[in-house]
Formats: sequence, C-alpha cells, structure tokens
Amino acid sequence: MIKFLLLIFLIFFIYRAVRKYMPLGQKTEQRPGDGPVDEMVQDPSCMTYIPRRTAQRKVVGGKEFFFCSKECAEKFEKGMRAQR
Ligand SMILES: [Zn+2]
Repeated sequence: MIKFLLLIFLIFFIYRAVRKYMPLGQKTEQRPGDGPVDEMVQDPSCMTYIPRRTAQRKVVGGKEFFFCSKECAEKFEKGMRAQR
C-alpha cells in the first residue's frame, strides 16, 4: 500500500515538473482598451467628432471623455463640477 502511494506521489511530482518546463504558449501582444485607430469619438463640449488617437483624453467623474482640444476638456470639466 505504501509503495502504491509512493508511486502516485512520484507520478504527481513528474507531472508537476513536466508542467513547469512546458512552454505556456506564445504570448501575443495585445493591448486591451485600444480600439480601432480611426475610431471617431464625440467631443461632449463642442459636439464635434474627432479621431480617437488625436483626441484629448480626460477622465471626468470616473468616466472617460475625449475632446478636440484642452480648452474643451477644461470647459467640460468645469461644467461637470458646476452641476454638482
Ligand atoms: Zn471641442
């Protein structure tokens, strides 16, 4: 009986060792949160559409907004503060 347990332990040990040295697959470079490059986003301040990659990104009140310029971002942020 002890021999049997020892054998199970040995198999388990080998299994673990093999798993440790097995390659875990190639990690593909993916950046989650990166949408399509030419995605258009709306500026909530002046209501114009701008490409996401050129937009000014700002987090206001825990939400992410995109603006055409820093001026619009500041204007919007001030407006959000005034609402509270
Ligand atoms: Zn704007």
